[in-house]
Formats: sequence, structure tokens, C-alpha cells
Amino acid sequence: MEQNVISIEDQKNLQGGLKLTDIEDNERNVSEDFEISVGQKLIEYLKSTNTTIILPQINFEENRIIFPILKEIGEDPSNISVLDKLTTPAVSILQKETYEVLPVCPEHPENLLTTTRICCSECSSINVKKLYLVEHKVCGFIADTEIFGQKTIKEIVACPKCEKNITNPKRELRSLGSWFLCSDCGEKFDNISNKLFCRKFNHDFDINSAEYLSVPYYSVNNSSSADVDTITLLTKLSKAIESFGFSSQKFVKVIGRSGVPHSVSIHGKKEDKQVSVFFRSSDKQLPDVDVNSIIAECADLPESFNILICIPSISSEAKAMARYTGTSIITGKEYDEVFSQLEKLVDEHINK
Ligand SMILES: [Zn+2]
Ligand SMILES: [Zn+2]
Ligand SMILES: [Zn+2]
Repeated sequence: MEQNVISIEDQKNLQGGLKLTDIEDNERNVSEDFEISVGQKLIEYLKSTNTTIILPQINFEENRIIFPILKEIGEDPSNISVLDKLTTPAVSILQKETYEVLPVCPEHPENLLTTTRICCSECSSINVKKLYLVEHKVCGFIADTEIFGQKTIKEIVACPKCEKNITNPKRELRSLGSWFLCSDCGEKFDNISNKLFCRKFNHDFDINSAEYLSVPYYSVNNSSSADVDTITLLTKLSKAIESFGFSSQKFVKVIGRSGVPHSVSIHGKKEDKQVSVFFRSSDKQLPDVDVNSIIAECADLPESFNILICIPSISSEAKAMARYTGTSIITGKEYDEVFSQLEKLVDEHINK
């Protein structure tokens, strides 16, 4: 039975949610290598600076969201799609999180700078002022701060009624509350209205009509096995497979006999020959249950020569099980050692 290969793009579509620029088939390998090289540079930079978080910078003047770290590794700092690609399930170096959600103008959503405006709840005029009602304790005169000749209580220096000087407003005056006054319609009210103001195009809009722009930040995916060494290894391995005349794809889903798709780190094809490389790494021996589940996946891909790379090791029982089902196993701590074993296996078994 013919096995179908789902591309990395299809896989992203299956996972849903991620909106990525479509990449033409013939550009895929170029693009993947690009992602991987950016991924490598990025991880090296993060490691060397001991950082695990990639924060954006929002430039409201230029309406740009940039990631300064991209500049550090020689990439365009506004190329967010590069970071997005590193979050896809197949690569999974980064995790995407929400940094900030910006309200933007529904008519000019590309314009990031909006500010809040207060306005009259009656006529929407912005000519609104806040007034405080004050009592002069000595004479009992009550009036708003304007009549006392000031904007705020603490600025008051004299009483207009008894004409006495006020040297300590806090002690000599009593605050009786505050309200808003609209200079245009004369309305007095307790609660002010809010509107958002689109600064560049100079108009107000209702807060409920705003669009919301989510600005992401990225964090290093600690649970990912795709560190810099892994990416380097898989890139080298896929090149080695190609050097034997195979076409190869990294991070693809291959449909098994059962119809179930399996995540394969590298899938190579040459005429009727196929090779599928599964990759798992851990800081200690891989649990038998993990190894067994991959062995089961391999059994569902009988037309393919299946290789399972386990870093650093697996139990002897798991090894025996793999041997029994015809899955080739490679274990090791050093990536160079793993790579040479792989090259040898590919050469001996599929390069005929
Ligand atoms: Zn606008
Ligand atoms: Zn008004
Ligand atoms: Zn007075």
C-alpha cells in the first residue's frame, strides 16, 4: 500500500490556529534550512546570554512591533513569522505567549497608538473638568474649587466669603466630594465617559468598537528535545540521506497502513525505498513505554526502513523488543557517535 506523506504545512493546518505564509513545495527545503539556521543561531544566542524569554518592543511612533533579539542574530527584527515557525509542533523550539493586547482603531487597525479620552456623558464633548466641593471650616462657606479660585483643594489660599487667608488647606478646609462639569452643555455628572482616540487620524471611537491586537512574546520550550545539537544532527543526517540519492523531508507526518499519521523526524524516499527516522532524547534513559510506542508506530510503516534514535540510552528489554520487530535502534550520548552510526546504517541497509 502506498504511504502518503503529509507536509509540514499540512501538519500545521491539522493542528490549526497557526497562520503561516504558504511555502511552495519546491521552496520547502530551502525554507526549512532557513528556519533551522535561524533556530540554531537563536538558541546559541539565548544560551550565551542566559535568556529564556524573547520580548517584543512596540514602537508606537513607527507602528512597528519588533523583536530586538532577531537583530542580534542578523535577522530582520520585524520578521515575526520566523519566530512563529519555531513554535510549530514539528520544530517546537519556542512557545508563543501573550505579551500585551492593544486596543486599536477599527478603521485604522494598523495604527498602534490609541489613547483614552474622557468626555461628557451627555454631549460627548471633551471640554470636561473635575470640580471639588469644599467647605471653609471656620466660616462654613461651601463652594466648588473654582469659586475658591483654584483647580484643586491644596492650591486654595483664601476664602472668597470671609476673605481669611488659608495657610493649611488640609486642616482648614473640608472636602465634600467631587463631580464633573461639561463646559459645553453645562451638565454636571458623577461618572465620566471614556472614548478611545485614534491619534494619527485624529478621531474618537467607542471602546466597544475597538479591535484588539495581540502582541506575542516567546519563551524557550524547555520540554522540547529540539535543542541546537538536535537540529544540527537532524540537518546533517537529512543531508547524508540526500547524498545517497534520496529526497528527504524533516518533521513530516507519514500515514501508516492503519491510516494513522506518524510524526517522523526525517523521511527519505528514493523510488520504492523509504527511510523513516524517529528521534527521542531525554536527560536519562528513555522509559520503555516511550520506546514501545515508537516501535508500534514503526510496525505501522512496514514499507519503510525505520530507525529510532534514542538519546542517551534505552533498556536492554526495549532493545530486544525493537530487534524483534525489525526497528533499527541507535543510542548514544555524543552526537558525532550517533551520526556515524546512522550513516553506517543508511549505507548498509538502504543504499543498495
Ligand atoms: Zn482611526
Ligand atoms: Zn456636555
Ligand atoms: Zn471663609
